[in-house]
Formats: sequence, C-alpha cells, structure tokens
Amino acid sequence: MSNIETYWKKTTDVLKQDMNEITFDAFISPIIPIRYTDNLFIGSLNMGVVAYKDIIKKKYSDKINRALTEVFGRPMSFVFDDEISEENNEVKNQVNDNNIPVQRENGLISNYLFSNYIVGSSNNIAYAAAVAVADNPGEDDMYNPLFLYGGVGLGKTHLMHAIGNHVISCNPDAKVLYVSCEKFTTELVEAIRDKRTIEFKEKYRQLDLLLIDDVQFLSGKEAAQEEFFHTFNALFDAKKQIVMCSDRKPSEIQTLTDRLVSRMSKGLIFDIKSPDFETRTAILEKKAESKNIKIPSEILQYIAYTITSNIREMEGALNKIVIYAKFNNRIIDMELAEEVMKDVIKDNKANITVSYIQETVADFYKVSVDELLSKRRTKPLTIYRHIAMYLCRKLLEDSLEEIGEKFGGRDHSTVMNGCDKVCKLIETNEERAAEIKSIEKRIVGN
Ligand code: ADP
Ligand code: MG
Repeated sequence: MSNIETYWKKTTDVLKQDMNEITFDAFISPIIPIRYTDNLFIGSLNMGVVAYKDIIKKKYSDKINRALTEVFGRPMSFVFDDEISEENNEVKNQVNDNNIPVQRENGLISNYLFSNYIVGSSNNIAYAAAVAVADNPGEDDMYNPLFLYGGVGLGKTHLMHAIGNHVISCNPDAKVLYVSCEKFTTELVEAIRDKRTIEFKEKYRQLDLLLIDDVQFLSGKEAAQEEFFHTFNALFDAKKQIVMCSDRKPSEIQTLTDRLVSRMSKGLIFDIKSPDFETRTAILEKKAESKNIKIPSEILQYIAYTITSNIREMEGALNKIVIYAKFNNRIIDMELAEEVMKDVIKDNKANITVSYIQETVADFYKVSVDELLSKRRTKPLTIYRHIAMYLCRKLLEDSLEEIGEKFGGRDHSTVMNGCDKVCKLIETNEERAAEIKSIEKRIVGN
C-alpha cells in the first residue's frame, strides 16, 4: 500500500468508529484519496456519486478533519480536488476550520505553546533550553544550534512550534519558519528542477529563526545535506538561530557527512525521554481541559497507565473514548474506557518491539532505557535488564542474537543466561514474579 493509501485507510478506520455502517458506506467509502500537503488532505469522488459532495462537506467534513488530524498527528483538513488550485495548494473557497488549530504560512501551528506543554523530569532540560532559545534567539552561540532528540510522540515538534510562537509573539516582525526536513528536501528538488535555486537559498538565508524538524530524514539525501550545510553556515554566521529535532543524535543519523554532524553538534544537544506516569497523567489532563472534555481523573490515569511510551497514542486513546461515548450516547465511565482501550491495545499489539519492551520495563522500575542497556552491573539494574531480555524472548519472535544486538550489542549467550535467571527467579521469588506479570500485562495489555 502506498503512503497515502495507508493514511487514508487509518483515517477511515477511525471514522468507522464514529459513524454507522450505512452512512460510512454511502459517504466515506466512495472517497478516493488523491494527495496530501502539510495541512490538507485532498480527495475526489467516484463519478457516480459526485452529487454527494455537498452532503459530505456539510455534514461530515468535521468528522473527517478530526480523524485526519488524529492519524497525521498534526492539524489536517479535508478538501475535494476541485476546491484547490493545483499550483500552490491553496484552497479556492476557504474551507471552514472549525476549531482545528491553524497552521500559518510560516509553518507554525498556533496552539503548540509553552503554556500548554507539561514539564516533568523526562523533558525539563529540553524545555528549559527551548525557553532560553526562544527568549534570545541567535544571541548565544552556546545555544546555537539547539538540537533536540527523542522517540516518537514525545513532544519534540510541540516544543519547536512553541519556540516559534514565542518568538513571533515577542517580535511580530521576526522571520520565522518551521519546516519538516522532508518539505525542505522536496522544495530543494523542485527548485533545482525549476531553476529557482537562488530563490530557494534566499528564502532560507533571510530567516531569523529556522526550525527544522525530523532531520534524520537527511539520511541518504546528499543534495539536501549539502544545501542544508550551506544554509546552516549562512544562518549561523549571521547569528541567526537554528533549532533541529530528530529521533536520534546527530552522530547516529546514518550517512550524514562528518562535517554536518559536527555542525549539528556545535551548540547544545538534549534528549526528551518517555514521560513518567505523573507527567503522562498531567498531559492528559491538560489535553482534556483544552478540548473542554469532562472526564473522571481515574480514567485519565487508566489511559496513562496503559499507554506508556507515546503521548500521541495516549491522546488518540482519549479521543477514541470521547467519540465512542458520544456516538453510543453513554457516559464516560470505567466500563466504557475499558471497552475502548481493549481495541486500542489490540491495535498496539502489532507494535510490540524490543525497544517498546525496554521502555516499559524501564518505566516500571523508574530507570532510564540508557541505564537499562548500559554495561553497569549493579544489582537491581542487572535484574531489570534480564527481565527485559526475558520478556523480549517470551513475547517476540526475535532470535537471541537479535535481542542481544538491541541490548547494546550483547551476545546470544548473555541473553540466554539472563532469561534462565529470570525463569528461576519467577519460581523462587513471588514478589518478582508478580512484578514481571504486571509488566507483561502492560506490554500486551490484557
Ligand atoms: P514528536 O514530535 O516528538 O513525535 P509531538 O510534538 O508531535 O511529538 O507530540 C505528540 C503529541 O503529544 C502532541 O499533540 C503534543 O501536543 C503532545 N505532547 C507531547 N509532549 C507533551 C507535553 N510535555 N505536554 C503537553 N503535550 C505534549
Ligand atoms: Mg515530530
């Protein structure tokens, strides 16, 4: 399945839960996904049912927009192909946005702010650095560039937009641009094709603040790396601020040229870790509040307890519960939450990986994944590490070698020994056995 089809399939899966079958078949099934941009999803209709277009727009565009936003993890609006001009992706007759946060021309999403970012021990250093940069962009060489990295859905993109929004609010004339690395690359390719590279260079080099997201996608793209290197130097020399995000450290981005790694590492590099239970609960409370959702706190805690490693998924689960309750005309109670979460967990099951298991074990014992994978042999840490290995062995198809590799390059006999020790532990130590069971339950979710 191509990328767009996968996205559309996920979106229709969300919509299915929010609509009855007849409506779904009549109005959603005939939509053919065409393409998407940063904030628009463009579809068309089977010839036979073009007359439905108005009904879909009037009655279902809200639902479709919400589902798209959930699936893409950023604000998206649905439009039909004849509503949009080909050249610049601009909507001809402005579609109404209905409470969906707007993405401005500078790429900034309006409601990703410092004020609705929850700070905990997993992200406080990254947060502090982001605030420092936003207060004095470009001023301090030490903070230039700021490089943030961390796993999926942990709030990197939110922080970047918060920096941009803060700078604009202090200085409305500041030239700020948020761009994904993919967009940067596409623009460059198009500029080369259309012989507009000078324009491209000017666009980027006149900025006061460049926020460039997901730079791991520079991997394997030589031309983009080259151009980014020069853009970087031009901005840096002019004392303009650069902020980058990635899912890993610069040195771990494959095929990145050494000189680019060294430029990226010039300023400050901070990571964002998986939030602990309290932070996750606080984030959910904030989200519920901002969406005006009244929901018992025990249910928020239940969600935060069940989904441990990805905030976007946690938010998705919250949305599902709310939509499910509304559609079935029920109040949100524990029974309903459990029903919905069963589905969410089933969907997630396919996503169980070595790193997911490592994160869950680390979260359970309140240690970091780095510590879990380290060479340190202090007592509880070694036991936790063995437990993680044991659960990987039990729950995944990966071979001992593969598991060892993902535990910091340990060999298969180390993994085997670890697993054996845990088997004995389960027989002899009731308390540990119960802990392991509880971690396993969290991972597989039943
Ligand atoms: P990433 O870019 O790291 O994959 P995002 O920034 O897209 O993650 O975050 C995913 C979702 O989680 C967003 O809706 C974001 O607002 C929310 N989120 C993440 N961290 C926090 C936080 N600390 N406080 C509030 N919301 C957060
Ligand atoms: Mg992101």
